[in-house]
Amino acid sequence: MLRNCEECNRVFSHPTRRLCVDCFEKRQEAFNKVKDYLKEHPNASVAQVSVDTEVELETIYEFIREGRLTIIPRDVDLRCEICDAPISVGRVCSKCRAELQGEKVRPVQQKREQGSTASRVHYLDRIRDRR
Ligand SMILES: [Zn+2]
Ligand SMILES: [Zn+2]
Repeated sequence: MLRNCEECNRVFSHPTRRLCVDCFEKRQEAFNKVKDYLKEHPNASVAQVSVDTEVELETIYEFIREGRLTIIPRDVDLRCEICDAPISVGRVCSKCRAELQGEKVRPVQQKREQGSTASRVHYLDRIRDRR
């Protein structure tokens, strides 16, 4: 599938990436720089990180939103997109994420568990019959 690179607008082909190979590698390099910098300076502000690593603020925020950084600059103000609670990673807080997942996952899981228990009993019965 052909698409335009979000960074340089060049046409490239890849099933999932939003960046061409060149920009993807540059982005990866930037990510490593930011990650290493924060390991050495865990109390740095996001502006400091940007100046010292020469990575754009916008890009740093993107890394944070993607949840790829384990250490984030101390003054980053991320908010849950649903309830506006302060968060340190991703787009929604853990409470909202649990609610979102709960709504979608729970009914399906229950059904599957009941089904598997029933079929296992049935299977054991069949084994007994065979002996
Ligand atoms: Zn590109
Ligand atoms: Zn929330």
